[in-house]
Amino acid sequence: MTRGKLAAWIAGRLDERFGEVKRRPNDPVEILVATILSQNTNDSNRDRAYESLIGRFRSFEAVADADEDEIAATIRVGGLHRQKARSIKESLRRIIAERGGLDLSFLAGLTIAEGLNWLLSLPGVGKKTAGIVLLFSFGKPYFPVDTHIRRVLSRVGLIENGEDPHRVMNQILPKDPVLMRRLHLHLIRLGRTVCHPRRPECSDCPLSAGCAVGKETISTLRRKSR
Ligand code: SF4
Repeated sequence: MTRGKLAAWIAGRLDERFGEVKRRPNDPVEILVATILSQNTNDSNRDRAYESLIGRFRSFEAVADADEDEIAATIRVGGLHRQKARSIKESLRRIIAERGGLDLSFLAGLTIAEGLNWLLSLPGVGKKTAGIVLLFSFGKPYFPVDTHIRRVLSRVGLIENGEDPHRVMNQILPKDPVLMRRLHLHLIRLGRTVCHPRRPECSDCPLSAGCAVGKETISTLRRKSR
Protein backbone atom coordinates (compact mmCIF):
# COMPACT_ATOMS: atom_id res chain seq x y z
CA MET A 1 0.00 0.00 0.00
CA THR A 2 1.34 3.49 -0.80
CA ARG A 3 1.62 6.00 2.00
CA GLY A 4 -1.25 8.03 0.58
CA LYS A 5 -3.52 4.95 0.50
CA LEU A 6 -2.45 3.94 4.00
CA ALA A 7 -3.25 7.44 5.30
CA ALA A 8 -6.69 7.33 3.65
CA TRP A 9 -7.34 3.85 5.10
CA ILE A 10 -6.36 5.06 8.60
CA ALA A 11 -8.63 8.11 8.30
CA GLY A 12 -11.54 5.89 7.21
CA ARG A 13 -11.06 3.37 10.01
CA LEU A 14 -10.83 6.10 12.64
CA ASP A 15 -13.94 7.86 11.29
CA GLU A 16 -15.84 4.57 11.66
CA ARG A 17 -14.57 4.11 15.19
CA PHE A 18 -14.84 7.63 16.57
CA GLY A 19 -17.38 9.39 14.32
CA GLU A 20 -17.91 13.13 14.59
CA VAL A 21 -15.53 15.30 16.58
CA LYS A 22 -16.52 18.02 19.03
CA ARG A 23 -15.99 21.61 17.99
CA ARG A 24 -13.08 23.30 19.72
CA PRO A 25 -12.59 26.96 20.57
CA ASN A 26 -11.02 28.67 17.59
CA ASP A 27 -9.73 32.00 18.84
CA PRO A 28 -6.09 31.94 17.69
CA VAL A 29 -4.60 33.61 20.77
CA GLU A 30 -6.58 31.27 23.02
CA ILE A 31 -5.40 28.26 21.01
CA LEU A 32 -1.81 29.50 21.03
CA VAL A 33 -1.75 29.88 24.82
CA ALA A 34 -3.60 26.60 25.45
CA THR A 35 -1.24 24.70 23.13
CA ILE A 36 1.86 26.12 24.81
CA LEU A 37 0.31 25.02 28.13
CA SER A 38 -0.32 21.54 26.71
CA GLN A 39 3.36 20.85 26.08
CA ASN A 40 4.60 17.84 28.07
CA THR A 41 1.43 17.40 30.06
CA ASN A 42 -2.02 15.83 29.76
CA ASP A 43 -5.32 17.53 28.87
CA SER A 44 -6.51 17.65 32.43
CA ASN A 45 -3.45 19.52 33.70
CA ARG A 46 -3.43 21.78 30.64
CA ASP A 47 -7.06 22.70 31.33
CA ARG A 48 -6.35 23.32 35.01
CA ALA A 49 -3.37 25.54 34.14
CA TYR A 50 -5.45 27.43 31.57
CA GLU A 51 -8.36 27.97 33.98
CA SER A 52 -5.95 29.08 36.66
CA LEU A 53 -4.31 31.58 34.27
CA ILE A 54 -7.61 33.07 33.13
CA GLY A 55 -9.04 33.01 36.64
CA ARG A 56 -6.07 34.92 38.00
CA PHE A 57 -5.45 37.48 35.24
CA ARG A 58 -8.86 37.71 33.50
CA SER A 59 -7.40 38.69 30.11
CA PHE A 60 -4.39 37.88 27.94
CA GLU A 61 -3.49 41.60 27.92
CA ALA A 62 -3.09 41.34 31.70
CA VAL A 63 -0.97 38.20 31.27
CA ALA A 64 1.30 40.11 28.86
CA ASP A 65 1.83 42.79 31.54
CA ALA A 66 2.15 40.39 34.47
CA ASP A 67 5.28 39.40 36.34
CA GLU A 68 6.76 36.24 34.81
CA ASP A 69 7.21 34.54 38.19
CA GLU A 70 3.57 35.21 38.99
CA ILE A 71 2.47 33.67 35.70
CA ALA A 72 4.69 30.66 36.40
CA ALA A 73 3.20 30.17 39.87
CA THR A 74 -0.30 30.35 38.38
CA ILE A 75 0.33 27.63 35.77
CA ARG A 76 2.55 25.41 37.93
CA VAL A 77 0.10 22.48 37.72
CA GLY A 78 0.92 22.01 34.00
CA GLY A 79 4.67 21.46 34.57
CA LEU A 80 7.57 23.27 32.89
CA HIS A 81 5.86 26.33 34.34
CA ARG A 82 8.82 28.74 34.18
CA GLN A 83 9.57 27.91 30.56
CA LYS A 84 5.89 28.11 29.58
CA ALA A 85 5.39 31.38 31.48
CA ARG A 86 8.27 32.94 29.56
CA SER A 87 6.98 31.63 26.22
CA ILE A 88 3.43 32.84 26.86
CA LYS A 89 4.40 36.28 28.13
CA GLU A 90 6.97 36.91 25.40
CA SER A 91 4.66 35.64 22.66
CA LEU A 92 1.80 37.87 23.84
CA ARG A 93 4.12 40.88 24.06
CA ARG A 94 5.48 40.19 20.57
CA ILE A 95 1.97 40.02 19.12
CA ILE A 96 0.99 43.30 20.82
CA ALA A 97 4.20 45.02 19.73
CA GLU A 98 3.93 43.89 16.10
CA ARG A 99 0.16 43.97 15.59
CA GLY A 100 -0.89 46.77 17.95
CA GLY A 101 -3.02 44.40 20.04
CA LEU A 102 -3.72 40.73 20.67
CA ASP A 103 -5.00 40.11 17.17
CA LEU A 104 -3.71 37.32 14.94
CA SER A 105 -6.32 37.74 12.22
CA PHE A 106 -3.60 38.86 9.78
CA LEU A 107 -2.52 35.18 9.59
CA ALA A 108 -5.65 34.47 7.53
CA GLY A 109 -4.14 36.43 4.63
CA LEU A 110 -0.77 34.67 4.69
CA THR A 111 0.25 31.49 2.89
CA ILE A 112 0.83 28.41 5.05
CA ALA A 113 4.60 28.83 4.76
CA GLU A 114 4.41 32.52 5.72
CA GLY A 115 2.08 31.81 8.64
CA LEU A 116 4.30 28.97 9.85
CA ASN A 117 7.41 31.13 9.66
CA TRP A 118 5.79 33.92 11.63
CA LEU A 119 4.43 31.62 14.34
CA LEU A 120 7.66 29.63 14.58
CA SER A 121 9.50 32.86 15.36
CA LEU A 122 7.55 33.14 18.65
CA PRO A 123 9.32 31.73 21.72
CA GLY A 124 8.28 28.18 22.65
CA VAL A 125 6.30 27.68 19.45
CA GLY A 126 7.14 24.65 17.32
CA LYS A 127 5.50 23.10 14.27
CA LYS A 128 2.80 21.39 16.33
CA THR A 129 1.65 24.57 18.07
CA ALA A 130 1.93 26.67 14.91
CA GLY A 131 0.05 24.03 12.93
CA ILE A 132 -2.76 23.81 15.48
CA VAL A 133 -3.28 27.59 15.28
CA LEU A 134 -3.27 27.57 11.46
CA LEU A 135 -5.52 24.52 11.11
CA PHE A 136 -8.04 25.05 13.91
CA SER A 137 -8.28 28.85 13.89
CA PHE A 138 -7.84 29.63 10.21
CA GLY A 139 -8.74 26.40 8.41
CA LYS A 140 -5.33 26.30 6.72
CA PRO A 141 -4.51 22.78 5.51
CA TYR A 142 -1.42 22.09 7.62
CA PHE A 143 -1.39 18.85 9.63
CA PRO A 144 0.06 19.20 13.16
CA VAL A 145 1.71 16.15 14.73
CA ASP A 146 1.89 15.70 18.49
CA THR A 147 3.54 12.97 20.53
CA HIS A 148 0.50 10.61 20.36
CA ILE A 149 0.14 11.05 16.62
CA ARG A 150 3.84 10.47 16.04
CA ARG A 151 3.73 7.23 18.06
CA VAL A 152 0.68 5.83 16.25
CA LEU A 153 1.98 6.78 12.80
CA SER A 154 5.36 5.23 13.36
CA ARG A 155 3.86 2.01 14.73
CA VAL A 156 1.53 1.78 11.75
CA GLY A 157 4.50 2.35 9.48
CA LEU A 158 3.43 5.63 7.93
CA ILE A 159 6.54 7.41 9.13
CA GLU A 160 9.96 5.89 9.53
CA ASN A 161 12.69 6.50 12.08
CA GLY A 162 14.46 9.78 11.45
CA GLU A 163 11.76 11.21 9.23
CA ASP A 164 10.11 14.55 10.01
CA PRO A 165 6.46 13.54 10.58
CA HIS A 166 5.24 17.03 9.69
CA ARG A 167 6.97 16.91 6.33
CA VAL A 168 5.73 13.39 5.54
CA MET A 169 2.13 13.93 6.61
CA ASN A 170 1.81 17.28 4.86
CA GLN A 171 3.12 15.72 1.67
CA ILE A 172 0.81 12.74 1.60
CA LEU A 173 -2.47 14.10 2.98
CA PRO A 174 -4.93 15.84 0.68
CA LYS A 175 -5.04 19.61 1.32
CA ASP A 176 -8.37 19.27 3.09
CA PRO A 177 -8.58 21.10 6.46
CA VAL A 178 -11.75 19.28 7.52
CA LEU A 179 -10.14 15.87 7.00
CA MET A 180 -6.94 17.07 8.70
CA ARG A 181 -8.79 18.35 11.77
CA ARG A 182 -10.72 15.12 12.13
CA LEU A 183 -7.69 12.91 11.58
CA HIS A 184 -5.61 14.96 14.03
CA LEU A 185 -8.21 14.61 16.80
CA HIS A 186 -8.93 10.94 16.06
CA LEU A 187 -5.25 9.98 16.12
CA ILE A 188 -4.76 11.75 19.45
CA ARG A 189 -7.79 9.95 20.83
CA LEU A 190 -6.48 6.59 19.60
CA GLY A 191 -3.04 7.32 21.10
CA ARG A 192 -4.54 8.20 24.46
CA THR A 193 -7.09 5.45 24.74
CA VAL A 194 -5.74 2.46 22.78
CA CYS A 195 -2.24 2.89 21.37
CA HIS A 196 -0.59 3.64 24.72
CA PRO A 197 3.16 4.29 24.85
CA ARG A 198 3.50 0.99 26.72
CA ARG A 199 1.26 -2.03 26.21
CA PRO A 200 -0.89 -0.83 23.30
CA GLU A 201 -4.29 -2.54 23.21
CA CYS A 202 -3.88 -3.85 19.68
CA SER A 203 -6.71 -6.39 19.96
CA ASP A 204 -9.12 -3.48 20.39
CA CYS A 205 -7.56 -1.22 17.75
CA PRO A 206 -9.34 -0.32 14.50
CA LEU A 207 -5.93 -0.13 12.78
CA SER A 208 -4.66 -3.58 13.76
CA ALA A 209 -5.30 -5.10 10.30
CA GLY A 210 -2.88 -2.61 8.72
CA CYS A 211 -0.35 -2.24 11.52
CA ALA A 212 2.83 -4.31 11.62
CA VAL A 213 3.33 -3.73 15.35
CA GLY A 214 -0.31 -4.60 15.98
CA LYS A 215 -0.17 -7.86 14.00
CA GLU A 216 2.97 -8.92 15.82
CA THR A 217 1.52 -8.03 19.24
CA ILE A 218 -1.71 -9.90 18.58
CA SER A 219 0.05 -13.02 17.28
CA THR A 220 2.35 -13.01 20.35
CA LEU A 221 -0.68 -12.79 22.63
CA ARG A 222 -2.32 -15.69 20.78
CA ARG A 223 0.81 -17.83 21.06
CA LYS A 224 1.00 -17.15 24.79
CA SER A 225 -2.66 -18.03 25.33
CA ARG A 226 -2.33 -21.46 23.69
S1 SF4 B 1 -2.54 -1.97 16.24
FE1 SF4 B 1 -1.53 -1.59 18.22
S2 SF4 B 1 0.42 -0.61 17.73
FE2 SF4 B 1 -0.88 -0.48 15.90
S3 SF4 B 1 -1.86 1.49 16.07
FE3 SF4 B 1 -3.25 0.02 16.98
S4 SF4 B 1 -2.76 -0.02 19.16
FE4 SF4 B 1 -1.08 1.01 18.10
